[in-house]
Amino acid sequence: MKHRDFDVVVIGGGHAGAEAAHAAARMGAQTALVTMSADGIGVMSCNPAIGGLGKGHLVREIDAMDGVMGRVADRAGIQFRLLNRRKGPAVQGPRAQADRRIYRTEMRAEMERQPNLWIVEGEVVDLLVETGTIRGVTLADGAVLRSASVVLTTGTFLRGVIHIGDERRSGGRMGDKAAVRLAERIDSFGLPLGRLKTGTPPRLDGRTIDWSSLDMQPGDETPELFSFMSHAPTARQVSCGITHTNARTHEIIRENLSRSAMYGGHIDGVGPRYCPSIEDKVVRFAEKDAHQIFLEPESLSDDVIYPNGISTSLPQDVQEDYVHSIAGLENARILQPGYAIEYDYVDPRALDLDLSVRAFPGLYLAGQINGTTGYEEAAAQGLVAGLNAAARANDRERITFSRSDSYIGVMIDDLTSRGVAEPYRMFTSRAEFRLSLRADNADQRLTGKAIALGCVSEQRKAQFDAKMEALAQGRERLSALSITASQLNDAGLNVARDGARRNGLQILALPEADFELLLPHDPELAKVSTDIRRQLGNDAIYANYIDRQARDVEALRREEAAIIPAEFDYADLQGLSRELQQKLDRARPANMGQAARVDGMTPAALTIILSRLQREQ
Ligand code: FAD
Repeated sequence: MKHRDFDVVVIGGGHAGAEAAHAAARMGAQTALVTMSADGIGVMSCNPAIGGLGKGHLVREIDAMDGVMGRVADRAGIQFRLLNRRKGPAVQGPRAQADRRIYRTEMRAEMERQPNLWIVEGEVVDLLVETGTIRGVTLADGAVLRSASVVLTTGTFLRGVIHIGDERRSGGRMGDKAAVRLAERIDSFGLPLGRLKTGTPPRLDGRTIDWSSLDMQPGDETPELFSFMSHAPTARQVSCGITHTNARTHEIIRENLSRSAMYGGHIDGVGPRYCPSIEDKVVRFAEKDAHQIFLEPESLSDDVIYPNGISTSLPQDVQEDYVHSIAGLENARILQPGYAIEYDYVDPRALDLDLSVRAFPGLYLAGQINGTTGYEEAAAQGLVAGLNAAARANDRERITFSRSDSYIGVMIDDLTSRGVAEPYRMFTSRAEFRLSLRADNADQRLTGKAIALGCVSEQRKAQFDAKMEALAQGRERLSALSITASQLNDAGLNVARDGARRNGLQILALPEADFELLLPHDPELAKVSTDIRRQLGNDAIYANYIDRQARDVEALRREEAAIIPAEFDYADLQGLSRELQQKLDRARPANMGQAARVDGMTPAALTIILSRLQREQ
């Protein structure tokens, strides 16, 4: 392919790139996914797992928009666990250990099946810029792909440097070369760049682990899948082993700290605080003499084990020593040493809420390049960038997400308004409206929006419509019930005899209530399926809180609707301190909601900005 025109070109076939390309193609855009190797599509650079707290919410939201990560993870899942199962649904996180080979195969198959999507193997070395607008890309072999928009999702590849002890080499991740020419080109754009780092543990040969001495953890009996379209796991389910570091392990690590790339001063980038290396844990939690390690199988078709919890940048001989000090791993063979990687990222405050680069119309950034860490964070950004790249190519309005409708909205607002000081990962605590942004209701929050955009399959639309209809009918029947406290007492529910009558939804909100106890009051309810019963129950539990949040959500929506033009002149605003003017000028908030979250913002300053906006309208 020497020269070709597309609507959208996506650079990179990792988690952000695959999701971006698929989303753009679902929107009807002629899309090219350019990646160094088609075999690299859907590669999991680090842990073979998808989801978790906060991250599982993102996967459900991607799925609700008909994205691919959830259904691929379901097909690849070899152990499913719902984290925080004993806590309320708002903070539960679906997680699956994935067979990385199946994940890669299935992700590539999704890309190949998708109409309007072409996979192009090659290295992008240049971006075409004409009169300040991005017009396509040039590949290392000289081929030119012209397009209306370009999505850049190069992960850890921009000037990636791999560290193992004091050894360092250029690389995008182990076995892949770094993207140096593209990084230099991006440098020439004058975008604000920073340096971050992350690490991965050594991989072990499962045949050399003494499993008989270890505790084993199975998955959940009733697996909780990611996709609203999936029904049951398809891969064989397995357990993982559990072991611990000990005083001897910590001693070996302490004695060799100066040989670690990070502690030896070889790395400048900032690492993820919430995903520390084993040397970090030994130093920061010096009082602890053991750390848990999960021994997770990477695939059903090989013996590679991922020891979750001991990522490192220590030299290989020290890795051998400390691994062998751990129970069950005395004779474990290291197949690939752990390493740290340092890479360039772009300060995401240079981006708008649609993930476009403000200074270069047509260019969108998604994934680790924006300072995030994790497959799910990358994929969620890919979805947003892909939708918007397609919207731009087809002259449609941009598509944004709000803090009040999704974790996707929370993440993009955080990134574009606050930037990152360390690799950003999602947590439920980042979402102020987490009682309404639950993993279980992601489809109710987002699938309607996706249908309106036209990026949803007929099958999903039909299933969603049927579910919404069943929920509406269920709610109607439940609202029509009128049950006394004494009837509830007779059914075994401990409620005060206050003379009040309750409808079915109010009863389902009670802590010990069960759908079954409502059946004698309306036999038609027996026809409601298990899934719909569970959803009605979850929705009922949170209905009161959500009503109470409604005013805050409404206020936020109003603020988000007050758009601040990109060229807004803060220096010209009287009554604002110089410091605040400079902060606002740097942050370039997209709307009044973002302006309110700028560090140091005051109600008086907000009023000044708002009145200027109103005057300029
Ligand atoms: P990637 O998955 O890195 O994909 C980038 C893609 O871009 C690749 O397909 C590459 O071939 C392609 N590409 C790059 N340059 C070019 C070019 N010039 N032309 C064409 N194609 C190009 N996350 C966690 O949550 N926890 C962890 O503990 C963790 N540890 C990690 C450890 C290591 C060593 C690494 C490398 C990553 C780790 N991650 C971890 C991060 C996780 O892997 C990433 O967040 C995620 O893969 C990012 O997805 P992405 O799509 O942005 O980039």
